[in-house]
Amino acid sequence: MKRMLSGIKPTGQLTLGNYIGAIKQFIEYQDEYEMLVFIADLHALTLPIDAKELRKNTKDLISVYLACGLNPEKVTLFKQSDVHEHAELGYIMACNSYMGELSRMTQYKDKTARISDHGSIPTGIFIYPTLMAADILLYDADYIPVGLDQKQHVELTRDLAIRFNNHYSETFIVPEPITPKTGAKISSLSNPEKKMSKSESEKGTLYLLEDLAITRKKIMSAVTDCDNEIKYDMEHKPGISNLLTILSSLTGKSIDELVQEYQGAGYGTFKKAVADVVCNELAELQRKVKEIQESNIIENILEEGAKKASYLARKKLSKVYRKIGLQ
Ligand code: ATP
Ligand code: MG
Repeated sequence: MKRMLSGIKPTGQLTLGNYIGAIKQFIEYQDEYEMLVFIADLHALTLPIDAKELRKNTKDLISVYLACGLNPEKVTLFKQSDVHEHAELGYIMACNSYMGELSRMTQYKDKTARISDHGSIPTGIFIYPTLMAADILLYDADYIPVGLDQKQHVELTRDLAIRFNNHYSETFIVPEPITPKTGAKISSLSNPEKKMSKSESEKGTLYLLEDLAITRKKIMSAVTDCDNEIKYDMEHKPGISNLLTILSSLTGKSIDELVQEYQGAGYGTFKKAVADVVCNELAELQRKVKEIQESNIIENILEEGAKKASYLARKKLSKVYRKIGLQ
């Protein structure tokens, strides 16, 4: 069975972008692949974060994973910081990467552009991709399901794996990114040119666990153009195209089908249909999250997951140590 791995960092409240671009894919794949899904809490430290908030985000993230249907019997669910080999291989990957290639990463450029001229850029955000490479290579993962924004990091991971294999002999599986056909980049509803992100507060970000009256309001006031035609055109109609993508991902209907269905309907009717679908899906999700948080299954699941992940990680790291001369 091919192996698949992916994670989300607990940097903020999860968004509909995370749900459509990442989590929904994990659920689809769990029967087909041997899956490892983790909470990337070490990555959450790459930009400043309050300890209390980090703890809450972590608990919410594991609850959402479970509420969405990730089955801990099938999937190894764990917290990155519980498996110390991530940080250790991360260091080795940093030693095998170049400043030039890391400074070309779009996420690094985007996230540091937001730090003012006088602010200092934390080193962690610079070496983020080397830790991500370690996350992937530790487990010999064949496929990495991600949204478009993370694809470049998986490409870099491939480069680092190939470089290491060439230098020290075959050690790592070279992974492949998988992005969803629809929904690989959900945009902010208030600024459809921009990716929806959990760590940037935007009035057009839909949070999975927010009050649904607010969700509905955000959808009804989503920025659109004014020609009142429901059509998919990312360049000229990014707002409507984004709503079509969301609706298509959540209903399973193709964009063409939806365009047919809403032909002639005004934007108001269309937005209401999107709001109904999103709110129904989130209401069910929120009900399950509440149930999970009131039970005390989380700790056990993470403990079991960490045991399984550590076993694999330990074996791999030991192989790496032998190859490079540390053992
Ligand atoms: P941050 O603002 O902290 O970077 P984020 O919302 O971008 O948070 P990540 O933890 O960086 O989330 O990414 C988790 C997963 O969600 C990745 O697979 C990423 O590609 C996917 N993802 C994030 N935002 C979107 C989006 N707007 N559309 C589709 N997929 C997304
Ligand atoms: Mg991100």
